Amino acid sequence: MYGRYGTDELNRFLMIISLILLLLACFRPLMFLYIPALAILIWTYVRCFSRKIANRRKENEVYLKLKRPITNFFALQKNKHRDRKTHCYFKCKSCRAVLRVPKGKGTIDVTCPKCGKITVKHT
Ligand SMILES: [Zn+2]
Repeated sequence: MYGRYGTDELNRFLMIISLILLLLACFRPLMFLYIPALAILIWTYVRCFSRKIANRRKENEVYLKLKRPITNFFALQKNKHRDRKTHCYFKCKSCRAVLRVPKGKGTIDVTCPKCGKITVKHT
C-alpha cells in the first residue's frame, strides 16, 4: 500500500451504499441494482489503490463539505431533544445563528454571540 491513497470517509460511505444496493439486489424485482452496486464497489477500490493522492483528498473534502450541513442538522435535533425541558432554541433574525437560552427565566435580553444583535425573548 506504499504510495497508495488508502481509505477515507468517502470510501466508507461508498462501501456502505454498495453493500446496501447488493443486499437489495438479492430480491428479484430489484436485481437491476446489482450493476450500480458493482460500479460503486469498483470505484471504491480504484480510489483506495489510487496513486493520485491530491485528487482523492479533494474528492473527500467535497464529500465532507456536502455532508457537514446534514450532520449538523441532526446534531442540532439531538441537542434540542436532549435539552427540551431545560432550554429553548431559536434563530437570530439577522444572522440565522441558532441560539440556546434557559427556560423559565421570564423575559430576557439575548445577545447573539455571532453578530451581537440583542433580542428580547420570553422563555
Ligand atoms: Zn446573530
